[in-house]
Amino acid sequence: MRSGDSYQVMLIGDSAVGKTCLLVRFKDNTFLSGSFISTVGIDFRNKVVNVDGTKVKLQIWDTAGQERFRSVTHAYYRDANALLLLYDVTNKASFDNIRAWLAEINEYAQDDVVIMLLGNKSDMTSERLVRREDGERLAKEYGTAFMETSAKTGLNVELAFMAIARDLKSRK
Ligand code: GDP
Ligand code: MG
Repeated sequence: MRSGDSYQVMLIGDSAVGKTCLLVRFKDNTFLSGSFISTVGIDFRNKVVNVDGTKVKLQIWDTAGQERFRSVTHAYYRDANALLLLYDVTNKASFDNIRAWLAEINEYAQDDVVIMLLGNKSDMTSERLVRREDGERLAKEYGTAFMETSAKTGLNVELAFMAIARDLKSRK
């Protein structure tokens, strides 16, 4: 692999939607349930992925508890090349709050930031309260990519990060 570029990817969204678990799933291919690390969050993890024979380094930042008070620092947005914006398909409020998160992104993030909307916990079929179509419609309205994921089963996790890496690489 040739050595390519490095990008900052930030995970945002309401508390408990699965940001930390998604990062751990992508980085270590494991699932954390209800553990300490999941509560406090982690700072960031690097992962190098291969996009068409070029190494792309992703530095993936977790929001370590600040999201509880909606006080994600503005500097955090400013440095982001990509944002993974999560809601929980079993938590309607987390979906309704996506518009507020997008307003913040619009205010503080770089104009060319790559955004992907993710409906996480899609494995919880009987508890689901947000339909896939609702997620798709919202993403379409804001012109962002969209996927449903599960940090628990791993569904679409690799795919989401690879799509981001591919998009970042193609934009430069
Ligand atoms: P964060 O606050 O957004 O970082 O959320 P966490 O990653 O700490 O996850 C919150 C809770 O949801 C934890 O108990 C996780 O085990 C659980 N969780 C996270 N992702 C999933 C998922 O995809 N499926 C299921 N069933 N549970 C999940
Ligand atoms: Mg967390």
